[in-house]
Amino acid sequence: MFVSSKNSKLKASLKEALLNPLSSDGGLYSPSVLTKISVDKNISYNDLALVIYKTFSNEFINEFKNSLDAYLEFDYQKAINIVKLNDKAHICELFLGKTRAFKDLALAPLARFMSALEDNLLIMCATSGDTGPATLSAFNNLARTICIYPHNKTSVVQQAQMGKIKYNNSLVLAIDGNFDDAQSALKELLNDADFKNSIKEAKLNLSAANSLNFGRILYQIIYHYYASLKYENEINIAVPSGNFGNALAAFYAKMMGANINKIKIISNENCVLYDFFNTGCYDLRKREFKCTLSPAMDILKSSNLERLIFYFFGDERTASLYKDLNEKKYFTLSKDELNKLKEHFIAYKCSDDECLKNIKKYSDVYLFDPHTATTLNALDDDFTLLCASAQWCKFTPSICKALDINKEEKQALFELSKEKNCKISDNLLEALNSNVNYAKEIKVNEIKEQILNWIKG
Ligand SMILES: *Cc1c(COP(=O)(O)O)cnc(C)c1O
Repeated sequence: MFVSSKNSKLKASLKEALLNPLSSDGGLYSPSVLTKISVDKNISYNDLALVIYKTFSNEFINEFKNSLDAYLEFDYQKAINIVKLNDKAHICELFLGKTRAFKDLALAPLARFMSALEDNLLIMCATSGDTGPATLSAFNNLARTICIYPHNKTSVVQQAQMGKIKYNNSLVLAIDGNFDDAQSALKELLNDADFKNSIKEAKLNLSAANSLNFGRILYQIIYHYYASLKYENEINIAVPSGNFGNALAAFYAKMMGANINKIKIISNENCVLYDFFNTGCYDLRKREFKCTLSPAMDILKSSNLERLIFYFFGDERTASLYKDLNEKKYFTLSKDELNKLKEHFIAYKCSDDECLKNIKKYSDVYLFDPHTATTLNALDDDFTLLCASAQWCKFTPSICKALDINKEEKQALFELSKEKNCKISDNLLEALNSNVNYAKEIKVNEIKEQILNWIKG
Protein backbone atom coordinates (compact mmCIF):
# COMPACT_ATOMS: atom_id res chain seq x y z
CA MET A 1 0.00 0.00 0.00
CA PHE A 2 1.19 3.49 -0.88
CA VAL A 3 0.11 6.80 0.57
CA SER A 4 0.71 10.44 -0.28
CA SER A 5 3.63 11.90 1.67
CA LYS A 6 1.43 14.90 2.44
CA ASN A 7 -1.79 13.07 3.37
CA SER A 8 -1.87 9.39 4.40
CA LYS A 9 -5.57 9.20 3.62
CA LEU A 10 -4.77 9.40 -0.09
CA LYS A 11 -3.91 5.79 -0.84
CA ALA A 12 -2.76 3.93 -3.94
CA SER A 13 -1.86 0.41 -5.00
CA LEU A 14 1.60 -0.16 -6.45
CA LYS A 15 0.13 -0.06 -9.97
CA GLU A 16 -1.60 3.24 -9.29
CA ALA A 17 1.54 4.70 -7.73
CA LEU A 18 3.63 3.76 -10.78
CA LEU A 19 1.12 5.04 -13.31
CA ASN A 20 0.21 8.25 -11.41
CA PRO A 21 3.33 9.05 -9.41
CA LEU A 22 2.09 12.38 -8.02
CA SER A 23 -0.92 12.15 -5.75
CA SER A 24 -3.73 14.68 -6.16
CA ASP A 25 -2.38 16.86 -3.33
CA GLY A 26 1.06 17.04 -4.93
CA GLY A 27 2.58 14.56 -2.46
CA LEU A 28 4.83 11.68 -3.49
CA TYR A 29 3.41 8.19 -3.15
CA SER A 30 5.47 6.45 -0.51
CA PRO A 31 5.28 3.03 1.14
CA SER A 32 3.06 3.13 4.23
CA VAL A 33 5.32 0.54 5.89
CA LEU A 34 8.64 -1.06 5.10
CA THR A 35 8.77 -4.78 5.86
CA LYS A 36 11.94 -6.38 7.24
CA ILE A 37 12.98 -9.39 5.20
CA SER A 38 15.56 -12.04 5.95
CA VAL A 39 17.31 -13.81 3.12
CA ASP A 40 20.22 -16.17 2.62
CA LYS A 41 23.31 -14.14 1.82
CA ASN A 42 23.92 -16.18 -1.31
CA ILE A 43 20.47 -15.47 -2.74
CA SER A 44 20.45 -14.65 -6.47
CA TYR A 45 19.78 -11.11 -7.63
CA ASN A 46 16.44 -11.98 -9.19
CA ASP A 47 15.25 -14.03 -6.21
CA LEU A 48 16.09 -11.16 -3.89
CA ALA A 49 14.27 -8.77 -6.21
CA LEU A 50 11.17 -10.92 -5.94
CA VAL A 51 11.29 -11.12 -2.14
CA ILE A 52 11.57 -7.32 -1.99
CA TYR A 53 8.83 -6.84 -4.56
CA LYS A 54 6.41 -9.04 -2.64
CA THR A 55 6.68 -6.79 0.42
CA PHE A 56 5.12 -4.05 -1.71
CA SER A 57 2.56 -5.97 -3.79
CA ASN A 58 1.00 -9.40 -4.29
CA GLU A 59 -0.13 -8.55 -7.80
CA PHE A 60 1.65 -8.73 -11.16
CA ILE A 61 4.34 -11.10 -9.90
CA ASN A 62 4.99 -12.53 -13.35
CA GLU A 63 5.14 -9.13 -14.98
CA PHE A 64 7.67 -8.08 -12.36
CA LYS A 65 9.76 -11.22 -12.86
CA ASN A 66 9.80 -10.67 -16.62
CA SER A 67 10.87 -7.07 -16.18
CA LEU A 68 14.16 -8.27 -14.70
CA ASP A 69 15.08 -9.75 -18.09
CA ALA A 70 16.08 -6.20 -18.97
CA TYR A 71 19.40 -6.91 -17.23
CA LEU A 72 20.18 -9.67 -19.74
CA GLU A 73 20.51 -6.93 -22.34
CA PHE A 74 23.17 -5.11 -20.33
CA ASP A 75 26.64 -5.57 -21.81
CA TYR A 76 27.81 -7.57 -18.82
CA GLN A 77 24.48 -9.44 -18.53
CA LYS A 78 24.21 -8.55 -14.90
CA ALA A 79 22.92 -5.66 -12.86
CA ILE A 80 25.95 -4.60 -10.81
CA ASN A 81 29.64 -5.24 -10.41
CA ILE A 82 31.80 -4.71 -7.32
CA VAL A 83 35.51 -3.91 -7.71
CA LYS A 84 38.18 -3.30 -5.11
CA LEU A 85 39.77 0.13 -4.84
CA ASN A 86 41.79 -0.62 -1.69
CA ASP A 87 41.31 -2.25 1.73
CA LYS A 88 39.07 0.55 2.94
CA ALA A 89 36.94 1.04 -0.14
CA HIS A 90 35.22 -0.99 -2.81
CA ILE A 91 33.38 0.41 -5.80
CA CYS A 92 29.88 -0.76 -6.60
CA GLU A 93 29.50 -0.17 -10.35
CA LEU A 94 25.89 0.69 -11.03
CA PHE A 95 26.44 1.86 -14.62
CA LEU A 96 26.53 -1.38 -16.60
CA GLY A 97 23.39 -0.50 -18.56
CA LYS A 98 23.16 0.77 -22.12
CA THR A 99 23.47 4.49 -21.39
CA ARG A 100 26.18 4.00 -18.73
CA ALA A 101 24.53 5.74 -15.79
CA PHE A 102 22.85 4.02 -12.86
CA LYS A 103 19.48 5.27 -14.12
CA ASP A 104 19.39 2.26 -16.49
CA LEU A 105 19.28 -0.10 -13.52
CA ALA A 106 15.80 1.05 -12.57
CA LEU A 107 14.45 2.42 -15.83
CA ALA A 108 15.25 -0.56 -18.06
CA PRO A 109 13.13 -3.02 -16.02
CA LEU A 110 10.59 -0.36 -14.99
CA ALA A 111 9.80 0.38 -18.66
CA ARG A 112 8.98 -3.29 -19.23
CA PHE A 113 6.97 -3.49 -16.03
CA MET A 114 4.93 -0.35 -16.65
CA SER A 115 4.15 -1.23 -20.25
CA ALA A 116 3.00 -4.66 -19.10
CA LEU A 117 0.61 -2.96 -16.67
CA GLU A 118 -0.82 -0.38 -19.07
CA ASP A 119 -1.21 0.22 -22.82
CA ASN A 120 -0.68 3.49 -24.69
CA LEU A 121 1.69 4.99 -22.17
CA LEU A 122 2.97 8.53 -22.50
CA ILE A 123 6.07 8.83 -20.35
CA MET A 124 7.50 12.20 -19.42
CA CYS A 125 10.82 12.90 -17.77
CA ALA A 126 12.74 15.95 -16.70
CA THR A 127 16.46 15.32 -16.64
CA SER A 128 19.70 16.85 -15.46
CA GLY A 129 21.46 14.60 -17.96
CA ASP A 130 21.20 10.89 -17.23
CA THR A 131 17.50 10.17 -16.67
CA GLY A 132 16.76 11.41 -20.21
CA PRO A 133 18.98 8.99 -22.14
CA ALA A 134 18.00 6.09 -19.86
CA THR A 135 14.27 6.84 -20.27
CA LEU A 136 14.47 7.19 -24.05
CA SER A 137 16.46 3.98 -24.31
CA ALA A 138 14.32 1.99 -21.84
CA PHE A 139 10.92 2.94 -23.24
CA ASN A 140 11.91 2.83 -26.92
CA ASN A 141 9.21 0.81 -28.73
CA LEU A 142 7.29 0.36 -25.46
CA ALA A 143 5.77 3.82 -24.98
CA ARG A 144 5.71 7.37 -26.28
CA THR A 145 8.30 9.44 -24.42
CA ILE A 146 8.89 13.11 -23.73
CA CYS A 147 12.24 14.21 -22.42
CA ILE A 148 12.86 17.73 -21.08
CA TYR A 149 16.43 18.80 -20.38
CA PRO A 150 18.22 22.09 -19.66
CA HIS A 151 19.92 23.20 -22.87
CA ASN A 152 23.74 23.25 -22.63
CA LYS A 153 23.68 22.34 -18.92
CA THR A 154 24.42 18.64 -19.43
CA SER A 155 27.57 17.03 -20.78
CA VAL A 156 28.06 16.96 -24.56
CA VAL A 157 27.69 13.19 -24.60
CA GLN A 158 24.49 13.28 -22.53
CA GLN A 159 23.04 15.90 -24.86
CA ALA A 160 23.93 13.76 -27.87
CA GLN A 161 22.40 10.68 -26.23
CA MET A 162 19.09 12.53 -26.04
CA GLY A 163 19.08 14.59 -29.22
CA LYS A 164 21.12 12.63 -31.73
CA ILE A 165 19.74 9.11 -31.49
CA LYS A 166 16.52 8.29 -33.32
CA TYR A 167 14.02 6.83 -30.89
CA ASN A 168 10.55 5.86 -31.98
CA ASN A 169 7.76 8.12 -30.83
CA SER A 170 9.81 10.50 -28.72
CA LEU A 171 9.87 14.24 -28.24
CA VAL A 172 13.06 15.82 -26.90
CA LEU A 173 12.82 19.38 -25.59
CA ALA A 174 15.90 21.46 -24.73
CA ILE A 175 14.68 24.29 -22.50
CA ASP A 176 16.32 27.61 -21.67
CA GLY A 177 16.41 26.94 -17.92
CA ASN A 178 18.06 24.64 -15.39
CA PHE A 179 17.04 21.21 -14.09
CA ASP A 180 14.85 22.63 -11.33
CA ASP A 181 12.87 24.53 -13.98
CA ALA A 182 12.43 21.32 -15.97
CA GLN A 183 11.37 19.30 -12.91
CA SER A 184 8.95 22.03 -11.74
CA ALA A 185 7.38 22.22 -15.20
CA LEU A 186 6.94 18.46 -15.18
CA LYS A 187 5.28 18.47 -11.75
CA GLU A 188 2.95 21.27 -12.85
CA LEU A 189 1.89 19.39 -15.97
CA LEU A 190 1.21 16.25 -13.95
CA ASN A 191 -1.19 18.36 -11.88
CA ASP A 192 -2.68 20.37 -14.76
CA ALA A 193 -6.31 19.29 -15.33
CA ASP A 194 -6.54 20.84 -18.79
CA PHE A 195 -3.31 19.17 -19.90
CA LYS A 196 -4.35 15.82 -18.48
CA ASN A 197 -7.70 16.04 -20.25
CA SER A 198 -6.03 16.61 -23.59
CA ILE A 199 -3.83 13.58 -22.99
CA LYS A 200 -6.87 11.49 -22.13
CA GLU A 201 -8.69 12.65 -25.25
CA ALA A 202 -5.73 11.42 -27.27
CA LYS A 203 -6.28 8.04 -25.55
CA LEU A 204 -2.88 8.14 -23.89
CA ASN A 205 -2.02 7.25 -20.30
CA LEU A 206 0.32 9.80 -18.77
CA SER A 207 3.08 8.91 -16.31
CA ALA A 208 6.55 10.08 -15.36
CA ALA A 209 9.92 8.38 -15.27
CA ASN A 210 11.61 10.67 -12.75
CA SER A 211 12.52 9.35 -9.35
CA LEU A 212 9.34 10.90 -8.03
CA ASN A 213 8.00 7.63 -9.50
CA PHE A 214 8.28 5.02 -6.75
CA GLY A 215 9.01 2.37 -9.37
CA ARG A 216 12.51 3.83 -9.74
CA ILE A 217 13.10 3.55 -6.02
CA LEU A 218 11.76 -0.02 -5.95
CA TYR A 219 14.41 -1.31 -8.36
CA GLN A 220 17.11 0.70 -6.57
CA ILE A 221 16.38 -0.88 -3.19
CA ILE A 222 17.30 -4.22 -4.73
CA TYR A 223 20.86 -3.43 -5.72
CA HIS A 224 21.73 -1.74 -2.43
CA TYR A 225 20.38 -4.73 -0.55
CA TYR A 226 22.14 -7.19 -2.83
CA ALA A 227 25.50 -5.40 -2.59
CA SER A 228 25.30 -5.29 1.21
CA LEU A 229 24.87 -9.08 1.37
CA LYS A 230 28.38 -9.51 -0.05
CA TYR A 231 29.88 -8.31 3.24
CA GLU A 232 30.15 -10.01 6.61
CA ASN A 233 29.91 -6.84 8.66
CA GLU A 234 27.66 -3.84 8.31
CA ILE A 235 29.05 -1.46 5.71
CA ASN A 236 28.92 2.25 5.17
CA ILE A 237 27.91 3.25 1.69
CA ALA A 238 28.65 6.50 -0.12
CA VAL A 239 26.11 7.85 -2.59
CA PRO A 240 26.65 10.87 -4.87
CA SER A 241 23.37 12.72 -4.46
CA GLY A 242 21.13 15.04 -6.40
CA ASN A 243 17.43 14.25 -6.32
CA PHE A 244 18.10 11.90 -3.36
CA GLY A 245 16.53 8.85 -5.03
CA ASN A 246 19.58 6.61 -4.82
CA ALA A 247 20.27 7.54 -1.19
CA LEU A 248 16.62 7.09 -0.23
CA ALA A 249 16.63 3.61 -1.80
CA ALA A 250 19.71 2.76 0.29
CA PHE A 251 17.86 3.93 3.38
CA TYR A 252 14.76 1.89 2.51
CA ALA A 253 17.02 -1.13 1.97
CA LYS A 254 18.53 -0.55 5.40
CA MET A 255 15.08 -0.38 7.01
CA MET A 256 14.25 -3.66 5.27
CA GLY A 257 17.25 -5.33 6.90
CA ALA A 258 20.14 -4.70 4.50
CA ASN A 259 23.62 -4.92 5.97
CA ILE A 260 24.10 -1.14 5.94
CA ASN A 261 25.27 1.14 8.73
CA LYS A 262 25.76 4.75 7.67
CA ILE A 263 24.62 6.20 4.37
CA LYS A 264 27.09 8.88 3.36
CA ILE A 265 25.60 11.33 0.92
CA ILE A 266 27.80 13.66 -1.09
CA SER A 267 26.79 16.96 -2.67
CA ASN A 268 28.70 18.99 -5.21
CA GLU A 269 28.82 22.80 -5.01
CA ASN A 270 25.01 22.82 -5.10
CA CYS A 271 25.21 21.70 -1.49
CA VAL A 272 21.64 22.17 -0.28
CA LEU A 273 21.54 18.58 1.03
CA TYR A 274 24.91 18.91 2.77
CA ASP A 275 23.72 22.05 4.54
CA PHE A 276 20.40 20.45 5.40
CA PHE A 277 21.87 17.35 7.04
CA ASN A 278 24.32 19.48 8.98
CA THR A 279 22.00 22.27 10.13
CA GLY A 280 18.44 20.93 9.85
CA CYS A 281 17.51 23.85 7.61
CA TYR A 282 16.58 23.18 3.99
CA ASP A 283 17.19 26.61 2.57
CA LEU A 284 16.70 27.79 -1.00
CA ARG A 285 17.01 31.49 -0.15
CA LYS A 286 19.97 33.25 -1.77
CA ARG A 287 21.13 29.98 -3.22
CA GLU A 288 22.37 30.21 -6.74
CA PHE A 289 22.19 27.28 -9.07
CA LYS A 290 25.72 26.34 -10.13
CA CYS A 291 26.72 24.38 -13.20
CA THR A 292 29.40 21.97 -12.00
CA LEU A 293 31.46 19.10 -13.39
CA SER A 294 28.85 16.68 -12.02
CA PRO A 295 25.70 17.93 -13.80
CA ALA A 296 23.46 15.04 -12.67
CA MET A 297 23.92 16.38 -9.12
CA ASP A 298 23.15 20.00 -10.02
CA ILE A 299 19.85 20.07 -8.18
CA LEU A 300 18.50 22.34 -5.49
CA LYS A 301 14.96 20.98 -5.09
CA SER A 302 15.81 17.46 -4.08
CA SER A 303 12.47 15.67 -4.57
CA ASN A 304 12.97 12.44 -2.71
CA LEU A 305 13.99 14.08 0.54
CA GLU A 306 10.24 14.54 1.01
CA ARG A 307 9.82 10.77 1.26
CA LEU A 308 12.48 10.59 3.97
CA ILE A 309 10.80 13.38 5.93
CA PHE A 310 7.52 11.51 5.59
CA TYR A 311 9.06 8.25 6.78
CA PHE A 312 10.33 9.83 9.97
CA PHE A 313 7.82 12.54 10.79
CA GLY A 314 4.54 11.61 9.07
CA ASP A 315 2.19 13.26 6.62
CA GLU A 316 1.08 16.31 8.62
CA ARG A 317 4.60 17.40 9.43
CA THR A 318 5.69 16.80 5.83
CA ALA A 319 2.79 18.84 4.48
CA SER A 320 3.57 21.72 6.79
CA LEU A 321 7.35 21.70 6.12
CA TYR A 322 6.81 21.62 2.36
CA LYS A 323 4.27 24.40 2.63
CA ASP A 324 7.02 26.44 4.31
CA LEU A 325 9.40 25.57 1.51
CA ASN A 326 6.90 26.69 -1.11
CA GLU A 327 5.98 29.91 0.60
CA LYS A 328 9.14 30.96 2.41
CA LYS A 329 11.77 29.04 0.43
CA TYR A 330 13.03 27.19 3.50
CA PHE A 331 12.03 24.84 6.31
CA THR A 332 13.71 23.90 9.54
CA LEU A 333 13.68 20.67 11.52
CA SER A 334 13.89 20.63 15.29
CA LYS A 335 17.13 19.41 16.88
CA ASP A 336 15.53 16.10 17.85
CA GLU A 337 14.23 15.58 14.34
CA LEU A 338 17.62 16.28 12.82
CA ASN A 339 19.29 13.86 15.23
CA LYS A 340 17.01 11.09 14.04
CA LEU A 341 18.23 11.60 10.48
CA LYS A 342 21.83 11.74 11.65
CA GLU A 343 21.57 8.23 13.09
CA HIS A 344 21.55 7.01 9.51
CA PHE A 345 23.08 9.71 7.32
CA ILE A 346 26.33 11.66 7.17
CA ALA A 347 26.60 14.44 4.61
CA TYR A 348 29.73 15.52 2.74
CA LYS A 349 30.44 17.94 -0.06
CA CYS A 350 32.95 18.11 -2.84
CA SER A 351 33.97 21.14 -4.90
CA ASP A 352 34.91 20.91 -8.57
CA ASP A 353 38.57 21.40 -7.65
CA GLU A 354 38.48 18.55 -5.15
CA CYS A 355 36.65 16.40 -7.67
CA LEU A 356 39.41 16.89 -10.27
CA LYS A 357 42.09 16.14 -7.68
CA ASN A 358 40.23 12.97 -6.67
CA ILE A 359 40.07 11.78 -10.28
CA LYS A 360 43.79 12.39 -10.74
CA LYS A 361 44.80 10.84 -7.44
CA TYR A 362 43.23 7.47 -8.24
CA SER A 363 43.58 7.46 -12.03
CA ASP A 364 46.25 4.74 -12.09
CA VAL A 365 44.02 2.40 -10.13
CA TYR A 366 40.54 3.37 -11.30
CA LEU A 367 39.11 6.02 -13.56
CA PHE A 368 36.29 7.75 -11.68
CA ASP A 369 33.63 9.81 -13.41
CA PRO A 370 33.12 13.29 -11.87
CA HIS A 371 30.01 12.18 -9.95
CA THR A 372 31.49 9.09 -8.36
CA ALA A 373 34.73 11.00 -7.71
CA THR A 374 32.87 13.17 -5.20
CA THR A 375 32.37 10.11 -2.97
CA LEU A 376 36.13 9.95 -2.38
CA ASN A 377 35.66 12.90 -0.02
CA ALA A 378 33.69 10.54 2.24
CA LEU A 379 36.51 8.05 2.83
CA ASP A 380 37.59 7.49 6.43
CA ASP A 381 38.97 4.68 8.61
CA ASP A 382 35.84 2.56 8.26
CA PHE A 383 35.16 0.46 5.21
CA THR A 384 33.01 2.25 2.63
CA LEU A 385 31.27 0.95 -0.48
CA LEU A 386 31.30 3.71 -3.09
CA CYS A 387 28.29 3.79 -5.40
CA ALA A 388 29.61 4.47 -8.89
CA SER A 389 26.76 6.24 -10.62
CA ALA A 390 28.18 6.74 -14.12
CA GLN A 391 31.01 5.59 -16.35
CA TRP A 392 33.74 8.16 -16.97
CA CYS A 393 33.20 7.90 -20.76
CA LYS A 394 30.23 10.25 -20.53
CA PHE A 395 32.42 13.01 -19.13
CA THR A 396 35.69 12.85 -21.04
CA PRO A 397 36.36 16.63 -20.98
CA SER A 398 36.40 16.56 -17.17
CA ILE A 399 38.73 13.56 -17.19
CA CYS A 400 41.04 15.44 -19.58
CA LYS A 401 40.98 18.44 -17.29
CA ALA A 402 41.86 16.30 -14.29
CA LEU A 403 44.65 14.42 -16.06
CA ASP A 404 46.01 17.39 -18.02
CA ILE A 405 45.23 15.87 -21.40
CA ASN A 406 44.99 18.40 -24.18
CA LYS A 407 42.92 16.68 -26.84
CA GLU A 408 39.61 16.89 -28.63
CA GLU A 409 36.81 15.00 -26.80
CA LYS A 410 36.27 12.09 -29.18
CA GLN A 411 39.96 11.44 -29.73
CA ALA A 412 40.64 11.55 -26.00
CA LEU A 413 37.73 9.21 -25.33
CA PHE A 414 38.92 6.62 -27.83
CA GLU A 415 42.53 6.75 -26.64
CA LEU A 416 41.64 6.59 -22.96
CA SER A 417 39.18 3.75 -23.43
CA LYS A 418 41.87 1.75 -25.21
CA GLU A 419 44.41 2.50 -22.51
CA LYS A 420 41.96 1.62 -19.71
CA ASN A 421 40.55 -1.40 -21.56
CA CYS A 422 37.06 0.01 -21.28
CA LYS A 423 34.30 -0.79 -23.76
CA ILE A 424 32.42 2.26 -25.02
CA SER A 425 28.74 1.33 -25.20
CA ASP A 426 26.87 1.20 -28.51
CA ASN A 427 24.53 3.90 -27.27
CA LEU A 428 27.42 6.31 -26.62
CA LEU A 429 29.04 5.50 -29.96
CA GLU A 430 25.80 6.05 -31.84
CA ALA A 431 25.28 9.39 -30.12
CA LEU A 432 28.85 10.53 -30.81
CA ASN A 433 28.84 9.50 -34.44
CA SER A 434 25.46 10.96 -35.37
CA ASN A 435 25.11 14.14 -37.41
CA VAL A 436 21.40 14.72 -36.95
CA ASN A 437 19.73 16.56 -34.11
CA TYR A 438 16.20 15.72 -33.05
CA ALA A 439 16.08 17.97 -29.98
CA LYS A 440 13.93 21.11 -30.11
CA GLU A 441 15.22 24.25 -28.40
CA ILE A 442 12.32 26.00 -26.66
CA LYS A 443 11.48 28.31 -23.76
CA VAL A 444 10.18 26.93 -20.46
CA ASN A 445 6.73 28.45 -21.02
CA GLU A 446 6.38 26.68 -24.37
CA ILE A 447 6.59 23.15 -22.97
CA LYS A 448 2.86 22.50 -22.66
CA GLU A 449 2.02 23.83 -26.11
CA GLN A 450 4.85 21.85 -27.73
CA ILE A 451 3.68 18.64 -26.13
CA LEU A 452 0.05 19.12 -27.04
CA ASN A 453 0.97 19.90 -30.65
CA TRP A 454 3.15 16.83 -30.85
CA ILE A 455 0.40 14.62 -29.54
CA LYS A 456 -2.11 15.96 -32.04
CA GLY A 457 0.38 15.81 -34.91
C1 LIG B 1 21.12 10.89 -11.21
C2 LIG B 1 22.57 10.85 -10.89
C3 LIG B 1 23.04 11.17 -9.62
C4 LIG B 1 22.13 11.61 -8.51
O1 LIG B 1 21.29 10.57 -8.07
P1 LIG B 1 19.96 10.94 -7.23
O2 LIG B 1 19.24 9.64 -7.10
O3 LIG B 1 19.20 11.92 -8.07
O4 LIG B 1 20.41 11.51 -5.95
C5 LIG B 1 24.40 11.04 -9.38
N1 LIG B 1 25.25 10.67 -10.35
C6 LIG B 1 24.83 10.38 -11.59
C7 LIG B 1 25.83 10.01 -12.62
C8 LIG B 1 23.48 10.45 -11.91
O5 LIG B 1 23.08 10.16 -13.15
